[in-house]
Amino acid sequence: MTKPQIVWLRRDLRLADQRAFTAAAEAGPVIAVYVLDDALAKGHAYGGASRWYLHQSLEALERDLARHHSRLILRRGDTVEELCKLARETGAETVHALRHYEPWWRKAQGGLKEHLDLRLYDGNYLLPPGAVTTGSGDPYKIYTPFMKASLAAIDSFDILPEPSLSAPGTWPASDTLADWNLLPTKPDWAGGMREEWSAGTAAAMERFESFLDVVSNYDEDRNLPAIDGSSKMSPHLHFGEISPAMLWQAMTRYTSEGARIYRSELLWRDYAQNVICQFPDYPVKSYRDGYDDGLWRNPNRGHVIAGELEVWQQGRTGYPIVDAGMRQLWHTGWMHNRVRMIAASFLVKHLLIDWREGERWFWDTLVDADYASNAVNWQWVSGTGVDSNMFVRIMAPLSQSEKFDAAGYIRHWVPELAHLTGSAIHDPADDQRGDYPVKIIGHKEARERALSAYREAKD
Ligand code: FAD
Repeated sequence: MTKPQIVWLRRDLRLADQRAFTAAAEAGPVIAVYVLDDALAKGHAYGGASRWYLHQSLEALERDLARHHSRLILRRGDTVEELCKLARETGAETVHALRHYEPWWRKAQGGLKEHLDLRLYDGNYLLPPGAVTTGSGDPYKIYTPFMKASLAAIDSFDILPEPSLSAPGTWPASDTLADWNLLPTKPDWAGGMREEWSAGTAAAMERFESFLDVVSNYDEDRNLPAIDGSSKMSPHLHFGEISPAMLWQAMTRYTSEGARIYRSELLWRDYAQNVICQFPDYPVKSYRDGYDDGLWRNPNRGHVIAGELEVWQQGRTGYPIVDAGMRQLWHTGWMHNRVRMIAASFLVKHLLIDWREGERWFWDTLVDADYASNAVNWQWVSGTGVDSNMFVRIMAPLSQSEKFDAAGYIRHWVPELAHLTGSAIHDPADDQRGDYPVKIIGHKEARERALSAYREAKD
């Protein structure tokens, strides 16, 4: 009898275009396993929103496997120990998995190789990190040349269909998903997320199909928070319910500027991974000049910032566009990209609070929280990254709000201001605010403070 083949799942919760599943299915009966190991990713264990999404995503995969008369085995504990235990119980010798690059996954991959025949495959990125390099053979640090080199290297993708799976003689024991308590109970804060998200490959494909109807406007609409103009594929991509190659291939049928820009946005995701491979501690360490330690307001150096982080988190800064974004995030686990930039910039420049506080909050509250993409974008906004916006380029939230026509978005997420019209909705006068808070700091004052803190930190 052929030995069972273990498929070790992580952020690759799909059957189609999943090389580990395809290779395992060709070699023997398949036992798919997900190990919940909360101790592994120190400081970056999944936050609340991701745990909620993970539950939905695993449930969807269980349904997909059931269509193939197969199962998902759930184990909790130390990753390497649990996989070795499963191999002993089932007589399996080979583990198939997609390659992942977060530092804790690289460590676990190394550990597992010492005990079992671990076969790793590419497939969660358009190109594996390191596939394109500069003329001198180094990995890229800057997005634009990375994007151009990647575009030149990508031809087209062969998308693998779902493999047919055969079952082992007996199924090993499994936890149940409910045992893992991934869902919030008291209080149940996930109502808004349930309304917004359906997890799993089928739901991702359905959403993507409707996005294809509007992709020709993506180049402009993606910047307008009041419009559903982006694909909302980010949690589906993060958990690997679809592969980026599936999206890329679907997009090759379209020639519009929107489709072209969409492909380059997908490459931001590859770029972020490429950065993390070079700088695994990017989510906790600034990478430009090292000046920024003296830049952020710090209670240890006598600054009074009591409560300001919380005011930002709760969407009560008095800047409607910032607060709308922070409330959308809290309610749905997602925030529009343009607004992410405005809200992040507000934290680091208007409030002069260390970008790592923002990274942590987003990590806990985003359903698409991603070790690489989150850190790369935070460091881009804060001017501390290897490729980043200059710190001294300070976004003006009120004019951004008008420019990107956020009135409808603000009315939805900041109902206290829904009665306002014209430019007042972007920047209400104090007597128009009712219960809505006054500005935590004036824009001009914040800008001057940020610029002078920057000059001091540099000196
Ligand atoms: P679309 O516009 O439809 O883009 C399609 C896909 O391309 C996205 O799903 C995403 O996978 C990728 N993509 C697009 N823009 C970026 C980008 N700037 N960086 C990396 N990938 C991108 N994205 C995450 O996936 N996880 C994060 O934790 C994350 N944190 C962020 C933090 C900050 C401060 C900022 C400014 C941006 C962050 N982003 C993050 C990037 C971006 O905001 C989201 O990927 C995007 O809003 C997701 O919505 P969408 O799927 O509709 O995007």
